[in-house]
Amino acid sequence: MSSLLVRHANVLVTMDDHRHEISDGGLFIRDGFIEQVGPSAELPQTADEILDLTGHLLLPGLINTHHHFYQTLTRVVPAAQDCNLFKWLKTLYPIWARMGPDDIRISTQTALAELALSGCTTASDHLYLFPNGSRLDDEILAAREIGLRLHASRGSMSLGESKGGLPPDSVVEAEESILKDSQRLIETYHDPNPGSMTQIVLAPCSPFSVTGNLMRQSATLAREYGVNLHTHLAETQDEESFCLQKFGYKPVAYMELLNWIGPDVWFAHSVHVNSEEMRLYGEAACGVAHCPTSNMRLASGIAPILEMLQWGVKVGLGVDGSASNDGSNLLEEVRQAMLLARLNAGLHGASLSGEDAPALMTARQALELATRGGAAVLGRKDLGSLEPGKCADFFAVRLNHLTYAGGLHDPAAALVFCSPVHAEYTVVGGKFVVKEGKLITLDRPRLIEQHNRAAKRLLNG
Ligand SMILES: [Zn+2]
Repeated sequence: MSSLLVRHANVLVTMDDHRHEISDGGLFIRDGFIEQVGPSAELPQTADEILDLTGHLLLPGLINTHHHFYQTLTRVVPAAQDCNLFKWLKTLYPIWARMGPDDIRISTQTALAELALSGCTTASDHLYLFPNGSRLDDEILAAREIGLRLHASRGSMSLGESKGGLPPDSVVEAEESILKDSQRLIETYHDPNPGSMTQIVLAPCSPFSVTGNLMRQSATLAREYGVNLHTHLAETQDEESFCLQKFGYKPVAYMELLNWIGPDVWFAHSVHVNSEEMRLYGEAACGVAHCPTSNMRLASGIAPILEMLQWGVKVGLGVDGSASNDGSNLLEEVRQAMLLARLNAGLHGASLSGEDAPALMTARQALELATRGGAAVLGRKDLGSLEPGKCADFFAVRLNHLTYAGGLHDPAAALVFCSPVHAEYTVVGGKFVVKEGKLITLDRPRLIEQHNRAAKRLLNG
């Protein structure tokens, strides 16, 4: 039994059902779970460890619902800097094909380190190519060293160029071995219990890189074991044209056909969806991982997030892979989500003033996407808010940053409106990952050096 008392946060944002925000707030934590939340004066006064957050803002840990950790090795690749999705992928596939197990390990640590410093405590990752003996195990074991919760998606590609798919045949796998490995991973690592640090997700990559047969069989296998399903969907107009031409359906209708609409499914992107498709998502309790930076970087379009929320769709945020971001800063993604939703409102609204003005996404709505929203998308009832019984996952930022000067009349909004800062503390299940602004579970300078060496080797071939 170990206890942690967190107290005197200037503001504690709970994200509970009433969205309580508590001045001079704190938490009492025992064995990784929250026992009490409230004003510091009402909490127990002793514990095994005490964290004084005077001068800090305290929030639930952010939840990243879509990423490709390995892409941190191919940020800013010159030939892929100015392309849209399909050309970007075709440029990068041959470079990714050179990766090995050590590259997966290093890139996982880099991505998770960046995420932790941006307040993230749970990340979902989508690894869909396994060259040169790489396995999802390499990522899972590396994540355990850092201490963030991981929803590891066993991605896959099976529709190579010779069969009309986008990826070269050299990076696709046989469907039988994909399914066998998926089953092995679920049986080895998947923990469905409250407080779970590792969950497995089955995630055929996209309609243009897998067959319908693999999608169907993955869904059957996932439902047999009670694990979730994930894929990229409706990301670009090119994808829509591909699906219409090859399958005779738009992406969402194609998913319906394959039994891929349901509460255990979440889609990355969903930029190109109409009202009818959003209604279907809402009714079926499908989730969406909104990745605003990536959608801008690849000129994919603007996902209609406010409209999705009106249809009752579960929406979380994702930084997406670090070759289309080119970072893993989830707090920055919260800001981008708010700003992009506002741009969308401006583009589609008749005017930005007067009674018919379109609704603008608020800072708190954007924060909600990254907390409660992400937890709902990943199917985690034990995460997403600071309440008794939930996991002790939180982060705190110092309020005396230059960045916030002049904005402290509303610290929670300043966190989103002002430029993102690094977390001072990031705690997962009551354990520190970031303390006094420093990552304590890995050697940062050594990691950066290893990472740059690996990136150079991949790029030079
Ligand atoms: Zn992606």
